Formats: sequence, C-alpha cells, structure tokens
Amino acid sequence: MAYAEIIIDISTTALDRIFTYEIPEALAGDIEIGTSVKVPFGRGNSLRTGYVIRIKDEAGYDLSKIKAISEVVCDSSLVEGQLLRLAYWMKENYGSTYIQALMTVLPMKAKIGEKMLTYLHLNISLEDAKKELEICEAKHYKAKARLIKALIESGTMAKTSASKELNVSAATIKSLINSGTIIETAERKLRNPKTGKEGALPNYPLNEEQKAAFDIFDKDYKAGIRETYLLFGVTGAGKTEVYLSMIEEVIKEGKEAIVLIPEIALTYQTVRRFANRFGDLVTVIHSRLSAGEKYDQFERAKKGEVKVVIGPRSALFTPFSNLGLIVIDEEHENSYKSEQAPRYHARETAIYRAKLADASVVLGSATPSVESYERALNGEYKLLTLKNRVSDAKLPVVSVVDLREELKAKNFTMFSRELQKDLRATLDRGEQSMLFINRRGMAGFVSCIDCGHVIKCPHCDVSLKLHGDNLMICHYCGYKMIKPSICPECSSKHIKAFGTGTEKVCEALKKLVPDARILRMDADTTKDKEGHERILEEFASGDADILVGTQMIVKGHDFPKVTLVSALAADLSLFEQDFRSAEKTFDLLTQAAGRAGRGSLKGKMIIQTRHPDAYAIACASKQDYIGFYNQEIAFRRLADYPPKSHMLAVMMQSASHEELLSYSEKLKHFLDEYIKDFTKLPKIIGPAEAYVYKVKDIYRRVIYVKYADYQALIDIKNCVERLVWDGSLKGRVSTFFDFDPMVMF
Ligand code: ADP
Ligand code: ZN
Ligand code: ZN
Repeated sequence: MAYAEIIIDISTTALDRIFTYEIPEALAGDIEIGTSVKVPFGRGNSLRTGYVIRIKDEAGYDLSKIKAISEVVCDSSLVEGQLLRLAYWMKENYGSTYIQALMTVLPMKAKIGEKMLTYLHLNISLEDAKKELEICEAKHYKAKARLIKALIESGTMAKTSASKELNVSAATIKSLINSGTIIETAERKLRNPKTGKEGALPNYPLNEEQKAAFDIFDKDYKAGIRETYLLFGVTGAGKTEVYLSMIEEVIKEGKEAIVLIPEIALTYQTVRRFANRFGDLVTVIHSRLSAGEKYDQFERAKKGEVKVVIGPRSALFTPFSNLGLIVIDEEHENSYKSEQAPRYHARETAIYRAKLADASVVLGSATPSVESYERALNGEYKLLTLKNRVSDAKLPVVSVVDLREELKAKNFTMFSRELQKDLRATLDRGEQSMLFINRRGMAGFVSCIDCGHVIKCPHCDVSLKLHGDNLMICHYCGYKMIKPSICPECSSKHIKAFGTGTEKVCEALKKLVPDARILRMDADTTKDKEGHERILEEFASGDADILVGTQMIVKGHDFPKVTLVSALAADLSLFEQDFRSAEKTFDLLTQAAGRAGRGSLKGKMIIQTRHPDAYAIACASKQDYIGFYNQEIAFRRLADYPPKSHMLAVMMQSASHEELLSYSEKLKHFLDEYIKDFTKLPKIIGPAEAYVYKVKDIYRRVIYVKYADYQALIDIKNCVERLVWDGSLKGRVSTFFDFDPMVMF
C-alpha cells in the first residue's frame, strides 16, 4: 500500500499540519509530489483540496483511521504542483520543515482584516515636480504645495497621512491626480516607473558583443534548448540591455520571465529600464509589500496579466505557469542566500525551478561567484562574455595607496595625500565623488584607554557602537545605553570611542573640504523605508558633491557624474573569519571601481590599504577577474572549501550554555559514528563557538562538515534530523542547517 502526506487548503488555512491519506490502487499512477487531490476531511468528510508533498510505503499510524484520497484534480494548477516540488526539493537540499519550505514557496492569501491602503506617488520626474512645486507656491496653492513637497521628499505616502498629517483635502488630491502630477495605487509599489513619452529611455541597438551574447541564447531558445548561461560582463558592459532582448524573445514565444535583482539595487532607475521596454507587462515585488500585496501581485502573474516580474530573492516563486526565463543579475551577491530556513540559494533554486518549468536561467555579473565561474569553465553553464564597456566609457584608472606610507609621511588622517588632492580637483571640476568603508558595524566601539576595557552588550558577545556623542547601541539586538563617563572596570575617566564610522568620515571630510556638499548613507540614515532611494536620488540629481557610506553605496547604481571613488580602508573586510572574505573584498572593490566614470567623463578609483599585495586587492586594482579567480580557486581547493568541496554548517543554539555544550559534543559523537563507513571520511570541524558566541542571551555553537559529495551532506543532515526527532540528543537546543554558507556562523 502507498500513502501520501498531504497539506490541505494551502492558500487558506494555517499550514501547520500534514495529513496522511491512503493512495487507492486506481489512482496510484496519477499521484506524485505536487499533485493536487480531493480528500475527505473532518467529521463530515467534506471534500477538500490538498497537495501531495510526500509519498511513502508506511502510514506511520493507526490504519483504521486512515482515509483514502477521493480523486485527482485534473485541472490542478501545474504551477502549484511545480512550486510544491520545488518546496520539497528545498527542504531536502537545504534543511527545514515542510511548513517552512511551503511558506517560502507558496503565495499566502492576505489574512482577513488586512487593510488595503491607498498610496500616493509622484507621476512626474523629480525635476518636474520641483518646478510644479515652485508654480504652486507662487500661486499660493498651499495644500498642493505641501503634498508635492512631501512627495518630493519621500517619494510615496499613504493617502490617509496626506489628509490627516498634511491636511490636504480629497478634492485637492483628486485635482493633482487629474492633472497627472500624482497617481494613487492600492499598493506600495515601487514608484510607478513612467513609461510615457517624456520618461522614455532610448532603446539602444545591441553592440557587437552584446549581440553575439544574445544570439547564442536566442539560437538555443528557438531550438528549444534550455540552459544556464553565465553572462560575464565588465561593469558598464550593458548587461541589462542583453537581458531586455532575451526577455523580449521569451515573451514573443508566449512565455514569462522572472528577473532577480538584489533588493539594494532594486531602485526606480533600474525598474524604469524594464518598464520602458515592457510597459504594463512588468511588475515589481519587493520586501516592502505586505503579504497580501505580494499575494495580489502573484495572482496577477498567475492570471497572465503581467509577463515580467522583477524583485529580490523571493520573486523567484512567482507562480507563472509558462515560465521561460529566470535572470539573476549580480548573481555573486550574498543576498541571494536566504537567512531563514530553508537557507536556500536563489541560484541553485532557480536552476531547479527552471528545470521543472522547462525554462532557461541567465546569471549576470562583472565579478561572478567563484562557484559559477568554475561551473562555466566546466561547461555546466554556457559562458557569454562582454569584455568592453559600451560606447567609449573606459574602465577607470585604479590607484592603490599604501596607508603605511602615509603614516611614515606623518599623515594621520583617514585620507591619503593622493585622495585629498583628487577630492579637491573633482570638486573643482564640478564632478562627484563617493567614499566608502567596507564593513558593517564600523561605528566606533568604546574602550578605556587605561585598562583596555571594551564596553559590551550585556546580552550579546559584541561591543556596543557609539552613535552620535552619547548613545551606544548593540547592532545585534538593539540594546541601548548612555555612554558612561568613567570606566566601569577601573573608574578611569579616559574612556573613548575608537574606529571610524561613516559619521566620523563625514566630520573629517567637512574639515578637509568645507565647501563640499556631503551626503551620508548607511544603516542609520536609511532607517525609514524610502530613505535609501531618496538619498541616492538626491545624489543623482546633483544636490551633493560627495556621497559617504558603507558598502551599500557602491552596489549597482549608475551616476554619470561620479568620477572619483575611494575605498577608505579596503582591507577591513579582508581578514574576517570567513573563507569568502577575499572574494567579497575583490567583488566590492571591482564593483566600486565600476561606479567611476560611467558616463563620458573619465573615472578614477583610489584603494587605500595596508596590504597592497594581498591578491584580492592587487587583482581588483587591475580589474583582473581571471587572475583573482585562479588564485582563489587554488586556495579553495587547498582548503577544501566550496566550490571544490561542499560544506554543511550544523548550527545549534540554546539559552543554556551547559546544555548546548553537552548537546553539541554528543552530536559530534553521533556524527563520527555515522560517517565511519564512508569510503572517504568527511572532515568534521568543531563543535566550536560561533563567531559571535552569544546573541540576545542565546548561546551558539557550530559544527562544520566538509565533503565533496553534496548528497552525502544531505544524508548527514537527515541523520541529524532523525537524532533530533527521536530524542537521542537531550537538551533544550535548537538545531538548524546551512549548506555552503555565505556567512560563517
Ligand atoms: P552593466 O549592467 O553591464 O553594468 P548597464 O546595462 O547598466 O551595464 O549599461 C550601462 C549603460 O550603457 C546604461 O546607461 C545603458 O543604457 C547603456 N547602454 C547599454 N547598451 C548600450 C548600447 N548598445 N549602446 C549604447 N548604450 C548602451
Ligand atoms: Zn578602565
Ligand atoms: Zn546585544
């Protein structure tokens, strides 16, 4: 006898239970994972729709209580079936519960009571809006002016706040809508990208290189060949234009496309280029949408009202039933890896979904992940290359400054002499500069000069960071306290903030170039939801000369007037305890260099470092991806890191330090037993304390397993899951998994 595990009514009920049903002989051939079926449910045995998520030989409990599946729903939506299979695959390959996997993959209907808010957005360019504002002010249309001003500042606002907080009447709003100045939508859409005449962007004919890349794809596609392609093109090579042509082709074939873009690069600018080509066939999904809003977007996709969905990682689960292409732009980005179970990577998941849907995948990057490039070299992916920037834009000149030499020359500022000179010159030419620090949490920690005591969060194993003059904040849990005036250890008064944050950079910069208009962008200044985009637009419109920020400022933005970019302390990210730190540093520096001189102006990048010879830095300064790749892959091979081996992190956490300790030791013991019979022994590292041992009063330990065969790691994961379920590992500890981690635990 065969049995099926079934989730009932996935779209409406809480997904918290799996039911087992018998598969009648007559239906046996029709039922597989993802099949939609009708089953008798509850006391009245009313028929409910369910989805098969697993098939097994044993019911696992009292046979007399088991009911049988009534029928297979023939018109069951293929998409849901596909997505369920995807969920099952994700659960297997990344480790999670069924529910977690299903929740990740299936669109949830809006919870009853979720109110649909109406939002107002500008429908004209920022410049036109500023003109309109002047006109309204001149004519003393005060209410109109208030609203336009607010929208210029925030981009979008709820209609209710316009009427309540700004005291703008419904009639005024209506008149602005009628004149085309603003629009209202029922969702927090990314500001509606204008596709009308004035906003229209040119549609460039592809240049030779672009065309060659496109042609390979096009020929395959028309011949019914579905592949994974790696579009490796230097920054500014015009990758987006190639995606657009590919999508156009896919739509012509009656199919749909999903475009993944890292959330941080998902700006008005980017979306506009897609909307410009495909108009209303494009929709955007982003994390600011509520579950209900996202569900509605997914419904539109399912009904075929849109053909192209752009969004971050989760847009991958758009229920298109004729999916033809998945594009993953900036495929090397960390944000494509989920931070919650199942900790899936969008790249691998996209490739699996494409396989189910008979679609192709295009990965694009100027700095492909070492994983992807290796696969392209192996022939697993088809490599498409763009070697040159479009038109005449040249790659920027890169200069590496050794900060140790600056110290010798008695320059104790954070700006090298070369950078000081170039900042001045760029300013004098009326061009823009970007300065960044490449590490999170670089705001100063507070320490005692006399005894060395560092003020730490009482709940986490990290130092508190100083914000402003007096407030110290924990970046892990949000704990706040006022900076003490004397050292809590030795009562010394010499207590002081160390390190440099973006705030400090701005202060120093103001002294260096007092006449410059400086903008700062970091986690502090972008707390509100639209803040990030607002700052970028302000900079793009030329309202500032220098943009100072964390690494978030260099990701994927296109500012034609930026001719100077500098990494103030390039090695900050180089020595983190992470096998990917060289790759991350190389990517960041190369991408950053790509920001300079995107327009017709010549660009320059200055890398300030104490380790000019580190290969990540030396190769980035030459924009030499292949050189970097060769050194990096040798290191990965030597140390058995992905992609030369696979890696499973078994992460354990508990409020009890002692229980965690014995649990993790016991788990290690079981694992040693389990792998005894493997022909080649996997490497097991740990258990060890996590990089940050305590977060929010929870202790964390980790075991890493390295092995060449991914499937064997899945088996090890399944073994740990069994141990957890059958109670072999005693202790109040939660265990979870991360395959080929992007960030070390
Ligand atoms: P990438 O994503 O590869 O860094 P983009 O796609 O952003 O590069 O393109 C860089 C710039 O070049 C954009 O402003 C784009 O509009 C322009 N561009 C792209 N293709 C062409 C072309 N064939 N001719 C002229 N300009 C182009
Ligand atoms: Zn002290
Ligand atoms: Zn904390």
